[in-house]
Amino acid sequence: METTKSTSGKPRVVIIGGGFAGLNAAKSLRKAPVEVTLIDRRNFHLFQPLLYQVATGGLSPANIASPLRWVLRRQRNCEVVLAEVVGFDLEGRRVFTAEGDIPYDYLVVAAGSRHSYFGKDEWAELAPGLKTIEDATDIRGRVYSAFEHAEHEQDPQLRRARLNFVIVGGGPTGVELAGALAEIARHSLRNDFRHINPAEARIMLVEAGSRVLGGFPDDLSAKAHLSLEQLGVTVRTATMVTAITPEDVELKSAVGVERWPTRTVLWAAGVLASPLSKALTADSQAEADRAGRIMVQADTSLPGRPEVFVIGDMASYKQADGKLLPGVAQVAIQQGRYVARLIAARVKGKASEPFHYVDLGNLATIGRRSAVAQIRKLHFSGVVAWWLWLLIHLMHIVTFRNRLLVLTQWAWSYFTYDRAARLITGDVPSDADLAALQRLASPPQQR
Ligand SMILES: Cc1cc2nc3c(=O)[nH]c(=O)nc-3n(C[C@H](O)[C@H](O)[C@H](O)COP(=O)(O)OP(=O)(O)OC[C@H]3O[C@@H](n4cnc5c(N)ncnc54)[C@H](O)[C@@H]3O)c2cc1C
Repeated sequence: METTKSTSGKPRVVIIGGGFAGLNAAKSLRKAPVEVTLIDRRNFHLFQPLLYQVATGGLSPANIASPLRWVLRRQRNCEVVLAEVVGFDLEGRRVFTAEGDIPYDYLVVAAGSRHSYFGKDEWAELAPGLKTIEDATDIRGRVYSAFEHAEHEQDPQLRRARLNFVIVGGGPTGVELAGALAEIARHSLRNDFRHINPAEARIMLVEAGSRVLGGFPDDLSAKAHLSLEQLGVTVRTATMVTAITPEDVELKSAVGVERWPTRTVLWAAGVLASPLSKALTADSQAEADRAGRIMVQADTSLPGRPEVFVIGDMASYKQADGKLLPGVAQVAIQQGRYVARLIAARVKGKASEPFHYVDLGNLATIGRRSAVAQIRKLHFSGVVAWWLWLLIHLMHIVTFRNRLLVLTQWAWSYFTYDRAARLITGDVPSDADLAALQRLASPPQQR
């Protein structure tokens, strides 16, 4: 596919990524005198903050995914291209995709991030992370399979291990997963099994830092910690996971090293920017931080390339006070809208202001009627925070259809404790598969 420059003579804006940043940039350019090409390797926008609900069977994948062509169907100046971007020629102003090259006048790179195992990539199979629909359905399969295997396990020790769940990383995703798993074990599966009591499942949340929800104020972290413990989650802060095997995890803390038998480890720690950041740094003066995020200018452009912008999770943006912006949806949304305004202004020959982030707050849910929320200087917890969480998440779901579906599912789950989408799909790796994978991943001297 060789796409020529805009036939209308209007500048062409190419946007890579239909996530929060890219989609908001595309939508905000609807009235600008430009032609927009939105490239994504998936044909849908994914509402990642609710992925943990797909991973725990509360929602179906389609509830949180909205087809990009549908979302942009009425925007005449925007076309959607389904393709994987593999590189750039910044000098020649071209984007390379698996389907062919696409030229641009302005380029917006918003390809997001993925999880990082801090150099321990061999843990990926044993401890799946949560970033895509496939990750979520994989985790869902592993979680519900663990209960199924425990149901027919004769050996009490093995049964115990099958009912032990470890979540690594005490950020919002880890906390939400831990809370949801505790509710599955205590409520959703209460009457489903004949040989095990699902409520005996032990859920451990492991965090290397001194508190869970490290991005939240101290008092809300403490409340989240307490709420998790009230749900029956064992919270281990200041504890590092130093090894993961198909049979157990090794934990290291001030009290020493211990091993915890488990067959289900979930990874909610560490992010790494899209590999496209390497291609950008190779072809420009831009530098990346340790998480691979591109250090951008005050207007989110690349140093020396004023027509190329990097936004959302891929960007490392230093505010005027020297603080770096976090990798959250609000930053991505605001940067997407800002870049659209900036491009529209430039096309009209007007000047633009640097990006200014308005911190609207921070939210994390722990479980039923339990959440923490920081809205500017106000701190909320418990039911009030939970309602805020529900409302704000519903408001941000991209299509009305999905908003309605999610609301209906939540109402159903609230009154029945049921998680209607608790399906085991795809191939859940068996113990033998995981052991074989680990043998392959270990250096020979460790075998
Ligand atoms: C499980 C989870 C829970 C979260 N919860 C919250 C929360 O509660 N609150 C909050 O504020 N934030 C949350 N976040 C973070 C938030 O989702 C991200 O900050 C946000 O999605 C970043 O938006 P983005 O547009 O930069 O990237 P993304 O939303 O990741 O979008 C990137 C897009 O680029 C596409 N893409 C990637 N590479 C290529 C390529 N080579 N070629 C073509 N297309 C490509 C992808 O398909 C994707 O559509 C959560 C994230 C996760 C994973």
